[in-house]
Amino acid sequence: MSESVIEVSDLTRRFGAKTALASVSLSMPRGAVYGLVGANGAGKTTLIKHLLGLLRAESGSVRVFGLDPVADPVSVLSRIGYLSEENDIPGWMRVDERIRYSRAFYPGWDDVYAEEPRHTFGLDPMVKIRNLSKGQMARAGLLIALAHRPELLVLDEPSSGLDPIVRRDMLGAVIRTIAHEGRTVLFSSHLVGEVEQVADHVTMISRGRIARSAPPEVIRESHRCVTVRFPEPRHRPPTVAGVMRWESQDQEWTAVARGGSGELEVAVAGWKARIVAERFPSLDEVFVAHAGEAAAPAEDV
Ligand code: ATP
Repeated sequence: MSESVIEVSDLTRRFGAKTALASVSLSMPRGAVYGLVGANGAGKTTLIKHLLGLLRAESGSVRVFGLDPVADPVSVLSRIGYLSEENDIPGWMRVDERIRYSRAFYPGWDDVYAEEPRHTFGLDPMVKIRNLSKGQMARAGLLIALAHRPELLVLDEPSSGLDPIVRRDMLGAVIRTIAHEGRTVLFSSHLVGEVEQVADHVTMISRGRIARSAPPEVIRESHRCVTVRFPEPRHRPPTVAGVMRWESQDQEWTAVARGGSGELEVAVAGWKARIVAERFPSLDEVFVAHAGEAAAPAEDV
């Protein structure tokens, strides 16, 4: 099935003078795991809020299951499982009360299916939410998001501040969900490695813009990581078309470049330098390069 679950077209959103999303377009066909990766403040939550109908598109359009989530929230939200970073479950409720409360909203709620993660996560039904540890609280949120067998599971920074064991549960649950044919997962995180483990497709968002959107191996293999040894130490990197980021090690500088290393090879010959290593970058290196972090001021040679 190639029908898109999420279709965002030319979406722009400003908060006062701040542009949180700039002309974002995305198409997410059914039945895959999509990773949305961006640094803090990149625009991930703002995008997700549009998908949930919590924000109206200022310009551009948002469709989920072919519907406008603002105009038709019941039809859209009843088919989505959502877990936010805040995981705002009322503290006074017991785990079993919280489960009953959510079950009332969803005709598709599956008691047997819900019992499995409750058991796996070791969640005591009689414990009040406020008395759960941070990890157990996140697990409770995940159980609620999963148990009505949503067609689309949206996890917004689900593992931030959690320990690796809880994160592993989260990822396990994601994989289990997609195992059910035709279900789609949107998983937002600033942890590139975590997204890379589970996502079929990675969308990198940087300062409100989509920097790259493709399967992780396609993103990696469309970049090169090239280490150049200069005849003498240099303090600032040269400017070369296609190079997004340089990192220095005295006489050796490592570039992350878009596409191949052709431009760099030509430049290296001119500098009387030589290429000492060349490989595909990690997804994290590509992400950091796109985010433009630690970009050194350029100097022409
Ligand atoms: P984080 O990982 O920190 O949650 P994010 O990628 O989810 O980041 P957003 O929360 O979408 O980022 O924020 C994008 C930008 O828009 C940020 O600069 C943020 O300060 C700004 N922003 C978001 N919501 C509002 C709001 N209601 N009012 C003003 N500015 C906002």
